[in-house]
Amino acid sequence: MKNLKKIICAVLAITLAVLTFAGCGGSKEKALTATEGKLVMATNASFPPYEFKDGNDFAGIDVEIAGKIAEQLGLELEIKDVEFGSIIGGVETGKFDMGMAGMTVTDERKKSVNFSDSYATGVQTVIVKEDSAIKSLDDLKGDGSMKFGVQQDTTGDIYASDTAENGGYGEENIIRYKTGNEAVLALVSGKVDAVIIDNEPAKSYVASNKGLTILDGAWVEEQYAIAISKDNEELLTKVNEALNALIDDGTVKSIIDKYISAK
Ligand code: GLN
Repeated sequence: MKNLKKIICAVLAITLAVLTFAGCGGSKEKALTATEGKLVMATNASFPPYEFKDGNDFAGIDVEIAGKIAEQLGLELEIKDVEFGSIIGGVETGKFDMGMAGMTVTDERKKSVNFSDSYATGVQTVIVKEDSAIKSLDDLKGDGSMKFGVQQDTTGDIYASDTAENGGYGEENIIRYKTGNEAVLALVSGKVDAVIIDNEPAKSYVASNKGLTILDGAWVEEQYAIAISKDNEELLTKVNEALNALIDDGTVKSIIDKYISAK
């Protein structure tokens, strides 16, 4: 009898040991990113000076900040140039590790993804032709007398196509384009009367197309941040740590100055 007890005890002890060991081996640590060693960033490289193509390379504020973040995390940055409207969905499903595209933090987007701390302020501005009858933000009306060009799925699109009581001009007065550049070309050729777009791309489009001007004042003020999947809290924490270190040591400011203030 004594022996049987001993045997049972021994069997139990071994079982426990095996289970504990299997438990440890089984809980393999979750990888930080979808592809080991890489940080895949989705962007829409038609948004100067935040992201644009420079020959075959990507350049811009977001591209450089992302490069520094990847460096801090010991990862290789890989950039995917996609339509702006497919960035959030791709981040949500884990196709991309993060989305960085001069992207405004909105409550609606927060339902789908997490946002990092903000690294820049964005302002929605309005571009018109220099000889336009529209002289100020107060002249903008959703009464059918003017058409507004926007880049589809951006906050300019979302706010402008909203109803008058929400500060918009109504769906029927909005024409959507795939890129900001196409919206601006539509303004140049007279298909729309105004383009609502973020201030820095607006400046760069006005500089590269004759006869355009930006109306005084901010249409809406917003914060830019990096979108990360809600399933990857660890990446969010690491990106915030890296981003804040880069803000604190002046790297972010010097990158922004290189493309904006110093121009
Ligand atoms: N800031 C705007 C938004 O988030 C536009 C961004 C963009 O076109 N890349 O909707």
